[in-house]
Amino acid sequence: MPLDEFSLIETFFRRPTAPAAGVLAGIGDDCALLDGGAAGVLAVTTDTLVADIHFPARASAFDIGQRALRVNLSDLAAMAAVPRWFLLALTLPAADEDWLRAFSAGLFAVADAHGCALVGGDTTRGPLAVTITALGAVPANVALRRSGASAGDQVFVTGALGGAAAALADMTQTGACSAADTTLNARYWYPEPRLREGVALRGIASAAIDISDGLVADLGHVARASGVAAELELEKLPLCGAALARFGSDQTRDWALGGGDDYELCFTVPTSRLAALETAVRAGRLRALPVGRLVSGTGVHARDGAGRSLALTRTGYRHF
Ligand code: ADP
Ligand code: MG
Repeated sequence: MPLDEFSLIETFFRRPTAPAAGVLAGIGDDCALLDGGAAGVLAVTTDTLVADIHFPARASAFDIGQRALRVNLSDLAAMAAVPRWFLLALTLPAADEDWLRAFSAGLFAVADAHGCALVGGDTTRGPLAVTITALGAVPANVALRRSGASAGDQVFVTGALGGAAAALADMTQTGACSAADTTLNARYWYPEPRLREGVALRGIASAAIDISDGLVADLGHVARASGVAAELELEKLPLCGAALARFGSDQTRDWALGGGDDYELCFTVPTSRLAALETAVRAGRLRALPVGRLVSGTGVHARDGAGRSLALTRTGYRHF
């Protein structure tokens, strides 16, 4: 059997030794957490976007630049970290000045909006690919991990799902680099890293992850890391209205479960902290849309409106 993305990482890159000094969280979460001593805890994450795999190569360079940073900041949001610095490793087929001007304008628009400074990187020639390493700050012991959840916790997401995959389907169908519907287009090209929400969930959520590969896959990571099972209530899934209008509810639900690229947070809250969550929601600090709960067992399961168990067919995108 060929190795999938996650068994590849487990087999060749996770070493069976104790974590190195200063590593509070290593491989397996949205960010590594590194103890910087007096400087505090650093959350560190890196993501690569490859042309024609993660985005259409002919897309606007401004859009490519700003989206590359947004998706990295999303991993900081998932750990409740505040962005501070980032590095940019850029592989370019050619040094096209117009392209670079637009790309850097997009990149810095997001960097400036989040007070995040570019401090280094690497530039090479080859097929277009953008790798960003983002570093954020989070006080010790308040970072949100994938592993903190327990059976009985409620599961929430911060916004509607399925829109980004709908936009991608629209672009694939039409051959265009943007979706005609501006709401759908924004869901794919301008995902909002839920940084404010991540910080608001400090002390409230027991676990969190950003939804990059689809709710089933990403909630599955939380369930596995926490040693519990998740039960989704399908009729409660918040579906992107623009995707519903264009593609209907069955298709949009499939995309919400397995489509990816939405970059909302999925988080879990113990019943003892639901009142604190309610207070944060009332204060306008975040949206918390309930989608299910955690139970003992393994895996991610689904129930329909009548409480019947349903098999999940879409389990999220994997590279191998
Ligand atoms: P995310 O979707 O949050 O970016 P991934 O699913 O890509 O996370 O990765 C899962 C975990 O494996 C993360 O902790 C990531 O840092 C780690 N990881 C991915 N690739 C490698 C690698 N080649 N070597 C070491 N760790 C890796
Ligand atoms: Mg992530």
